[in-house]
Amino acid sequence: MELPATSSTTRLEIKRGTRILTEKPFAYVLKSKYRLERCDNCLEAVKVLKCSNCRYVSYCNRACQQQAWPLHKHECPFLKRALPRIVPDAARMLCRLILRLEHGGDLERGYYTAHGSRKFRDLMSHYAEIKNDPKRREHLESLHAVLTEMMTDSSGSTVPNPTELMSIYGRLITNGFNILDAEMNSIATAIYLGVSITDHSCQPNAVATFEGNELHVHAIEDLPCLDWSKIYISYIDLLNTPEQRRADLKEHYYFLCVCSKCIDPQEMHEMTAAVCPNASCDASVNIDLAKCQSCDASVTPELRSAYNEIMSLTQSSLDSMKEVAYLDVCKVCLAKQRGVLHPLNVWHVKTLDAAFEAAINVGKWTDALEYGQQLLPGFAKYHGAWNPLLGLLHMKLGKIQLYERNYKQAVHHLQEAQRILNVTHGRDHRLLLEQLRPLMLQARHEMS
Ligand SMILES: [Zn+2]
Ligand SMILES: [Zn+2]
Ligand SMILES: [Zn+2]
Ligand SMILES: [Zn+2]
Repeated sequence: MELPATSSTTRLEIKRGTRILTEKPFAYVLKSKYRLERCDNCLEAVKVLKCSNCRYVSYCNRACQQQAWPLHKHECPFLKRALPRIVPDAARMLCRLILRLEHGGDLERGYYTAHGSRKFRDLMSHYAEIKNDPKRREHLESLHAVLTEMMTDSSGSTVPNPTELMSIYGRLITNGFNILDAEMNSIATAIYLGVSITDHSCQPNAVATFEGNELHVHAIEDLPCLDWSKIYISYIDLLNTPEQRRADLKEHYYFLCVCSKCIDPQEMHEMTAAVCPNASCDASVNIDLAKCQSCDASVTPELRSAYNEIMSLTQSSLDSMKEVAYLDVCKVCLAKQRGVLHPLNVWHVKTLDAAFEAAINVGKWTDALEYGQQLLPGFAKYHGAWNPLLGLLHMKLGKIQLYERNYKQAVHHLQEAQRILNVTHGRDHRLLLEQLRPLMLQARHEMS
């Protein structure tokens, strides 16, 4: 008797929240600004000790140092020579990739299924596009100069020829990941081989999260089977208009997104909508039209000019606050947006996001609660219902409510956080075990 084909294993339905990939990086580097506060190997933020030879990188303990040594031993003399200068992160990453490839990395495979795998050479390099992109070429030239100085000693230079270097650089640009810590801060750059099979969508059905330097991909929708050609993650910030998203994707990944969200004109209008002049109508209004499409109220010249004014003020204010957001600046924008921009206008949502972070930074908890709560619908709409950022927003709100002794509200937000983070991170992720669970226990304890 012949058994049915083994397709049952790959045909199995994937439930939302299933981890579909766990992968260690092919190469990664800790961002230099964390050089003295995080371990160069496990990326943990703990008390660290410098490598006694280069005094450039630091480790949390001997085990991490030993684990890192097979690769670090090649770069250690380069980094030692570089000090007191700090090597740009991209140059350090290229150096690591070069060293990895020189020492057998070219044969290494990253698996995305039991049989499906990719090698570094299989990664897309966008060689032609990069070669024709003056900004990229200039960047690479400056990195080449850094590398040449770094990697040349009495026995000569180990920097690959320009064509080879560009193909490595192209793979880094196109496939690089930012490793995020639990708070979603970018702490390192990495290349993972297996996950590079995954395409982008602005409406993804999977999400990538990290635990230390390990990458996890979780399904955020139920999937009929594990077919990697139909698995999408988002490469970019989804809290942007289709126009901005497409520009981001074109600039970094050299393709034009044609996902349903990018080609839907309604989406663009909603993201930049004004409020309806009719106070009892909550429709989003396209400012270029004469009337509200829902209630026929006329768009007045006053509304149009207020709209243009606040849109440009908001955009320039947010632009100037890319590094640090100031609460007073956010408040001025929010006050002017009221009654002009629709609550789901993406620029309003971005302002709330900045105001929320700014309020937390200066410990204004009442303000933070107000902005955080107003932020929920926009985050859910644009980031999606199953996004780590929405889960984290609920967790932060739960924490503040707990601090403010609103225990019932705290439990509500923490439960929402748990529901989402269980899917995006998995129940056994440290974020849930070490941060969310203690908060939940405390909130429940206080309530009883
Ligand atoms: Zn460590
Ligand atoms: Zn060293
Ligand atoms: Zn798209
Ligand atoms: Zn209306």
